[in-house]
Amino acid sequence: MRRTKTSLRTCLGCGLEADKRELVRIVRGPDGDVFVDPTSKKSGRGAYVCPKEACFEAAVRKNRLGHALRAVVKEEDIERLRIEFEQIAGSDARFGSGR
Ligand SMILES: [Zn+2]
Repeated sequence: MRRTKTSLRTCLGCGLEADKRELVRIVRGPDGDVFVDPTSKKSGRGAYVCPKEACFEAAVRKNRLGHALRAVVKEEDIERLRIEFEQIAGSDARFGSGR
């Protein structure tokens, strides 16, 4: 195991570890809503996915996301998350390079 001072999180999609700042956080809020958290500061149970469409799709397939968040992620939630995710992954300066 690698140990560093950075906060490593595992991508739900591909299973690789990355610094959490390089991942997109998806959160289940206190009221049970599931949403993409661009600030990574919202409270709630979070899961992390690489800013890549393939990882997002892998995470929502097989309900990995719902399992990780212990939430019911409905098809309509996935649709909304996909839009939010694409906006963040595609527009955030953090993810602007290497695409
Ligand atoms: Zn990934």
